[in-house]
Amino acid sequence: MSERRPYNFRDLAGLVFGRLTVIGLANEKTRHDRVQWTCKCSCGAAKVVSGNQLQRGITRSCGCLRKEITSAKFRTHGHSGSPTYLSYTAAKSRCENINNQHFADYGGRGIRFRFASFEQFLAELGERPSGTSLERIDNDGHYEPGNVRWATHQQQSNNKRTNRRITAFGRTRTVAWWSRETGLSDQVIRGRLDLGWLPERALTCAPRVVRPTTSPRPPRGRPLEAFGRKLTIAAWSRETGISYDLIRARLVRGWSAEEALSATRPWSRRGDGVLPIARSARSS
Ligand SMILES: [Zn+2]
Repeated sequence: MSERRPYNFRDLAGLVFGRLTVIGLANEKTRHDRVQWTCKCSCGAAKVVSGNQLQRGITRSCGCLRKEITSAKFRTHGHSGSPTYLSYTAAKSRCENINNQHFADYGGRGIRFRFASFEQFLAELGERPSGTSLERIDNDGHYEPGNVRWATHQQQSNNKRTNRRITAFGRTRTVAWWSRETGLSDQVIRGRLDLGWLPERALTCAPRVVRPTTSPRPPRGRPLEAFGRKLTIAAWSRETGISYDLIRARLVRGWSAEEALSATRPWSRRGDGVLPIARSARSS
């Protein structure tokens, strides 16, 4: 083997190429009659490599390096079975795997999964705390930086309520969106829908203004009928000794005319059921 050496022969013995340390010339040559070297890999395995491959950096280990790189591609983050990684793959699948049973609600309606890698996802969200799951903040938005968070079940259901989708006027949008659009609070919109209102009506009617009063303001000067007679409030006031303002205030509060004209509100009626004022009114 030592009888004939190429003119450009270079002794590689003792040199280190990557993980390979050259031990000495190997007995066998390449198909092209080039010398090969017996090397010892840092992992302990022996390997015969041509000098050409060693010097050009093509071969740097017994093969163990490639195996490690390949498997590292599948578990670079070391989170393969973690809750965070499961959320990542599940969300990605909902958006991208047409065979996912939830695809229609995600990828099927245009929701995209826009994290380029698990590392980016993890950097954005951190590890998933127990008791939480992945949530999109805007339900119409994508899985992307800025629109995702770990949410508790309670947070999710709160968000689902305002993310409830309503189709009206040819558009399907969330309650939150309609609320911004119409100026109606999302509670009002949801309440109306729960009452069975049609979406268009629920989104257009002005909200009823709830006053503390329960009856319309009695117009001034209009006769007030009570105890079978019609008198102006001023006249009733003179007759009963109850101030004009108090009678009006009571009427505004929803008291009946008879109650408003009684000395105190007759919460419980006793005896013959006739109010004290009724007697005095009748007798006058
Ligand atoms: Zn090796």
